Amino acid sequence: MKYYSLRHQSPLVDFRQATITGQAPDGGLYFPEAIPKFLPGFRRELRGLSKAIVAFNVMRPYVGTTIEEADLLRICAEAVDFEFPLVSVETGVSSLELFHGPTLAFKDVGARFMSRCLGYFAQRGDTPPVTVLVATSGDTGGAVASGFLGVPGVEVVILYPAGKVSPVQEQQLTTLGQNITALEVSGTFDDCQALVKQAFLDEELAQQRFLTSANSINVARWLPQQLYYCFAMQQWPEEAAPPVVSVPSGNFGNICAGLLARTSGLPLGHFIAACNANEPVPAYLRTGTFTPRAAIPTFSNAMDVGNPSNFVRILELFDNDLAKMRAALSADTVSDADTVAAIRQVWEQDGYLLDPHGAVAYTALRRYQAQHPEMAGMILATAHPVKFPGVVEPILGRAIELPAVVQALQGRAKRTVPMSVDYEALRAFLWR
Ligand SMILES: *Cc1c(COP(=O)(O)O)cnc(C)c1O
Repeated sequence: MKYYSLRHQSPLVDFRQATITGQAPDGGLYFPEAIPKFLPGFRRELRGLSKAIVAFNVMRPYVGTTIEEADLLRICAEAVDFEFPLVSVETGVSSLELFHGPTLAFKDVGARFMSRCLGYFAQRGDTPPVTVLVATSGDTGGAVASGFLGVPGVEVVILYPAGKVSPVQEQQLTTLGQNITALEVSGTFDDCQALVKQAFLDEELAQQRFLTSANSINVARWLPQQLYYCFAMQQWPEEAAPPVVSVPSGNFGNICAGLLARTSGLPLGHFIAACNANEPVPAYLRTGTFTPRAAIPTFSNAMDVGNPSNFVRILELFDNDLAKMRAALSADTVSDADTVAAIRQVWEQDGYLLDPHGAVAYTALRRYQAQHPEMAGMILATAHPVKFPGVVEPILGRAIELPAVVQALQGRAKRTVPMSVDYEALRAFLWR
């Protein structure tokens, strides 16, 4: 499998090269040259297969010969080594719980897969020692830190805004040690991101250190997200019509992976991009014009993205054809007030606790079903509600119990490198 740049000004590369560099030299995102087709009978066979084998079968064509089969199987097994239950919430609505990984974030699968691929390439000497540099507003940093912990040949530097991530998120970022360093920046997430972007443009620094990113631009983080949809279909009733799928969306990596799996022949129905007040994509589907905006802060903060980077991949999937896109995908915008109302209603009626991101997806699905009452669907529950105590605890009327993986971090020493919003300081830190 080769990958081309969506800006078409860079050479084709294989999976290894796309993973190591993240973005193409022309600044474009990499896209697979051909989309593999699942064989007929795939849906039936799916049920009898282990998660590791499903992952191996789906990822194999994308990885090509860049990773030995036995190693790819091990990488796949480690990446999906937890549960992805599809839980019935109420008639017509199921929830695919993607928050049972080590950092309670759906980003765990992509981060674990990518880290092990990079580690594999680094150990074989296919790449110089790599430094993964990421800015985080919360969830990405924890998933990347946990995913890359102890991976030989890879160092991780995470920038996060001091005082602006939740206590659980901060513990996940700052207590692991080893090859993970957290830079506690006295600024905002946007400041962190600007510092990271500047580092990536610093050609002198690039001579000194091989820097790469670990966000969903990277194919090794983006592509394994297809697996959620496969695991969902392992659990969806065999004779039932394909589900409507509502995906809480920010950077649009997850939903784009789902649409890719659908293009490969996974029997998924209509897709809904469930957005909060950040709505460049819903506006695009309404008007045909895409206008990036500054991000607006909301309760579902992992989706506070004003210029979703994976949108160009969705355009490519639908051959830049708006009518084709509208036939498979709709989008909706859910306010904070409606998000809270949905959490309360589902908790009171069904005894099921949604997090703000899941609540956005639930509301968008219910609105779609109001027009299409015969269609059953699922939401992707992307975060554990314990990460959003400020929103969910007033509704519950008590504190949420901490899951074991979070409890294990309690009391561990926080270690950070404090830093001001000053590129020279970051540069000096990396220049070692
Ligand atoms: C990252 C994230 C999202 C958005 O996923 P994209 O792939 O960026 O669209 C949604 N929910 C949670 C909890 C997240 O952490």
